Amino acid sequence: MTLIFTPLGIRGIFGDGIDSVVVEKIANIFGRELGKGSLVVVGRDTRPSGYILDKAVVSGLLSAGVNVLNIGIAPTPTIEWAVERYDADGGIIISASHNPPEWNALKLIGRGGLLLHPDDMERLRERFEKEEFRSVPWNDIGMEEVVDVTGDYLEDLLNFVNIEVISEAGFKVVLDVNGGAGAYVTPYLLQSLGCRVNTLNSSPGIFVREMEPRPDTLQDLSKVVVATGADVGFAHDTDADRLTLVTEKGEVLSEDITLALVVDYILEKRGGGSLVVNVASSKMFDDIARKRGAKIYRTPVGEAYVAHKMREIGATVGGEGSCGGVILPDFHMGRDGPLAAALVLEIMASRGKSISELVSELPKYHTIRANFPRKRDWDSLKRDLISLGERRGMEIDLTDGVRLSDLEVWGLIRPSKTEPKIRILVESDDRSKAEEFLREVEKVVAT
Ligand code: MG
Repeated sequence: MTLIFTPLGIRGIFGDGIDSVVVEKIANIFGRELGKGSLVVVGRDTRPSGYILDKAVVSGLLSAGVNVLNIGIAPTPTIEWAVERYDADGGIIISASHNPPEWNALKLIGRGGLLLHPDDMERLRERFEKEEFRSVPWNDIGMEEVVDVTGDYLEDLLNFVNIEVISEAGFKVVLDVNGGAGAYVTPYLLQSLGCRVNTLNSSPGIFVREMEPRPDTLQDLSKVVVATGADVGFAHDTDADRLTLVTEKGEVLSEDITLALVVDYILEKRGGGSLVVNVASSKMFDDIARKRGAKIYRTPVGEAYVAHKMREIGATVGGEGSCGGVILPDFHMGRDGPLAAALVLEIMASRGKSISELVSELPKYHTIRANFPRKRDWDSLKRDLISLGERRGMEIDLTDGVRLSDLEVWGLIRPSKTEPKIRILVESDDRSKAEEFLREVEKVVAT
């Protein structure tokens, strides 16, 4: 049995870890914490198991005396937006994002549409392990309202982009939603922006390619972009908080690029400000912040950490580069794939450049990712990694794992939270320097 209750969410394989009994209890405890008469938004992605989990989550909340606004199948960003927009006290997202189809998961949202802080998730886990399901008496049961909020969401989103400039450009776009919740939103958004849209893998609940939108999984999209002479290709994961880009030449771009283009554009438009990314995001973001006169903050990996830091400092823009997730706080406090797509089109239209021209103007870095089996306890490995940094005279940052950096190269070494593995990420503007540093880190990790 695998139920993984982490500070960033609760997930497992359906029927073997996560099921209706487990999620009903979690929803019930979450609802009791919010209190009788509270309002919670519930939504889900297109996984078949989501239908059952939705019934159980709603049952758990109603039994806690909480009212439910059920928005049905919807992208994660739409659910996060809805919590803030309809002044709810919380939200529950039923989605395993980019995990394989047999997985499902819950993410919990607090007031204002932010994912619960990892410390609050930890407290909830303790209650889950100690407490039983408890129902209010029959005359205190909550009420459920089922609504489609897609129209309101699109209307609000369109306030944050220049519809006229984009429409005038008359873009041709290919969109791959991989059977996910994006199918209900992004095609209509692109049509409102005057685009001609071809969709791929758009039957909800039918997952054709691997779930994660990466260069090696988006070859079909790449071919269709080239064959149809499209200006750009967009790909979401199942809950559409991510956006990966394909150029008009069919090149699938690394996911950092989506956030880099958007951040650069927003900071330029606002004449500076502040930017929050996680410690695994490219050095490109430091260059962009410097160029635009903005202050940069880095957090541990995880949308909740980034969003809470953004709220704390009142950030202009932010997100998680490593998964193409853009957060624009003026709209709402979560990573938003449809918003990112609209903003990328606005950048192309207002700068009058193709997507490959825009990318060629970004700073260039070589990034290498590697995973190694974890051979000993993290504390002892961490000490040896810190001494490696000290020997090389590097800057040492312990925000999340160990991040070692100097002017030529940086690397982040973290233990995986779900598997007995060590994840390594190294980056440099010189590939051989990145490779050489990776070999040094490997030597420490392998012993
Ligand atoms: Mg996702």
